[in-house]
Amino acid sequence: MIDNYGRNIDYMRISVTELCNLRCRYCMPEEGVAKRSHKDIMSFEEIVSAAEAAAHLGIRKLRITGGEPLVCRGIVALCRELASIEGIEELCITTNGTLLVDFARELREAGVDRLNISLDTLNPEKYRYITRLGNLDEALAGIDAAFEAGFTGIKINNVLTGGFNDDEIEDFVALTRDRDLEVRFIELMPIGGGIGFDPENFISCRHVLERVPELESLEMSDGVANIYRLPGAKGRVGLIRPISCEFCDSCNKIRLTADGMLKPCLHSDREISLRGKGPGELEDVIRSAILEKPETRSRLDADNPSRAGRDMNMIGG
Ligand code: SAM
Ligand code: SF4
Repeated sequence: MIDNYGRNIDYMRISVTELCNLRCRYCMPEEGVAKRSHKDIMSFEEIVSAAEAAAHLGIRKLRITGGEPLVCRGIVALCRELASIEGIEELCITTNGTLLVDFARELREAGVDRLNISLDTLNPEKYRYITRLGNLDEALAGIDAAFEAGFTGIKINNVLTGGFNDDEIEDFVALTRDRDLEVRFIELMPIGGGIGFDPENFISCRHVLERVPELESLEMSDGVANIYRLPGAKGRVGLIRPISCEFCDSCNKIRLTADGMLKPCLHSDREISLRGKGPGELEDVIRSAILEKPETRSRLDADNPSRAGRDMNMIGG
């Protein structure tokens, strides 16, 4: 569906849970989130109904996210249902990867097309520090499991944080030499746990090009990432610049939170409830939410945090 600013909104991200087995410092609080009662969180039936209504309106791509979607009981069955919705052409998951050893094959068989796997460092101590609970070996084994299950187009999400992992830029780019994957550097955002990070932690993706000048631009973008490649490499490098370069004019997304609120814009606290609506009504509400997408957002930097009003684990990124 075309919104009021001529953008084709064809992508919905669905957060299926606020819970997570990690506690990344830039995302959620150390104590985690209180588990809510079942009735406060969308049931799988509600999620499927919302996705069907969205598909009627022209949504073609779904991304399952969270929290950590793979801690959600029944996630494989949910993916199977979402993948079979008429009109849905692509079903993706964003995951921290630590449970993929158990799930990758089943997810592939259920019809999941692509995986984005979050990984901010290749150093075990730093991984434990940034995730507060995680084990690097599990995340790396998850990436291998995704390849073994036959996934292609795997993307590694790296939140670029000055003073924490900018010294690993070359190592992450090197991962693309022999493996057909895309390493995506994402600028740290002042949202969720990222609010309150020091100004020097917020660095531009420009640093990637300065550190690895041999990266060649492929003169293409997939809507959020500008794509580069090392000469002769199998994989690619994507730069996602929510801070240093606004991409509102190519924004094609809406986001559904685990408690059933539709967010027309990530950085606004405007939310529209989808709870308790029948199929026709759902379509009307989603249509009006798409028409509420703002043309652009307010300034975003260390002194001007996001106005999303929720932590990232509640929105899904
Ligand atoms: N648990 C899954 C994961 O980590 O991939 C999915 C949910 S997580 C909220 C989705 C993405 O948001 C991850 O790639 C994470 O790194 C990113 N993210 C979370 N907080 C962020 C922040 N403050 N700035 C930039 N990216 C952030
Ligand atoms: Fe969990 Fe993902 Fe947030 Fe890390 S970024 S705490 S893995 S939801």
